[in-house]
Formats: sequence, C-alpha cells, structure tokens
Amino acid sequence: MTVRITKEFSFEMAHQLEGCNGQCSNIHGHSYRLFVTVSGTPVDDANSPKYGMVMDFTDLKKIVSEHIVSKLDHALMLRREGEVSKALSSVYTKIVCVSYQPTCENMVIHMAKILCRKLHPSVTLHSLKLHETATSFAEWYAEDNCANEDSCANVEGEAEF
Ligand SMILES: [Zn+2]
Repeated sequence: MTVRITKEFSFEMAHQLEGCNGQCSNIHGHSYRLFVTVSGTPVDDANSPKYGMVMDFTDLKKIVSEHIVSKLDHALMLRREGEVSKALSSVYTKIVCVSYQPTCENMVIHMAKILCRKLHPSVTLHSLKLHETATSFAEWYAEDNCANEDSCANVEGEAEF
C-alpha cells in the first residue's frame, strides 16, 4: 500500500520582487510555512529500524533543514540580475541570489528540484505547499510535472540555494 507522509517546516525570509507593480517591489519579509509530502510503501521488514515507516520523519527533517530551511531562514532572496542584488550583495551576509523572480511559485519549483535529488529513491516527492502568508500559498505536485515517478530525479535546474 502507498502512503503519503507530510512534515511541516517554517522559516523567516525577506525578498523583493523587482519590477512588480505593487507593494512587493519593496524589500519585505514573510513567515513562510513549507509542507513537504512524500509517498512510498511502509517498510515491512520487522528487523529494520524503519519498520512500518515510509520514511523516518527525522530523516526528512534533516534533508529539508539542511538544503532548504538553513539556507533561507533569515536570508534576503533577490533576483541575481536585479539592481538591488548588485547594490546589497556586498553589504549583507545572507543574501540568496536566484536566477528567477523570487515569488512563492518559483521558490516552490526550485525546492522541488532540490528535494527530488536529495530524497532516497525508496520514496517519491509527492507535493510541496509553500505558504507566503496565512492565506496565500503555492503548490507543486509531481503528477503535474513528472512524466513518471523516476523522472523527478532527472529534473533540470539549480541543485542548491
Ligand atoms: Zn512577498
């Protein structure tokens, strides 16, 4: 039987949407909430320390914390080609420059690319949900983006934040 498990994460991050025709063109922050859902079959070997688990929640926490949360928490995310990143890169220590406009939508795509590579092949990244505010969020689903379960590992893109 296939089961989905989800772990929730949170981080504080500032960003700026250069060229946006609204308030988001200013540098501002969000308390992001990230829901990571993986699917797989619970281990049926009674002698395994992972007996009954799709994936140990501790292992999932370690991967997401290392590759996403620790990189983004208390960071400022800016578009690499933007004027603001050129001006501030030498002033602040934790600026994450990305090749795309740092919207919730683009961030969740980038996170999916990272996690598809980092997760153990015994599980599949099913979906990600990234809340920017309590009422605004973006979702990535493997079924929308991956031709088959194996294709997720081969997705193109930046490997890290
Ligand atoms: Zn924002």
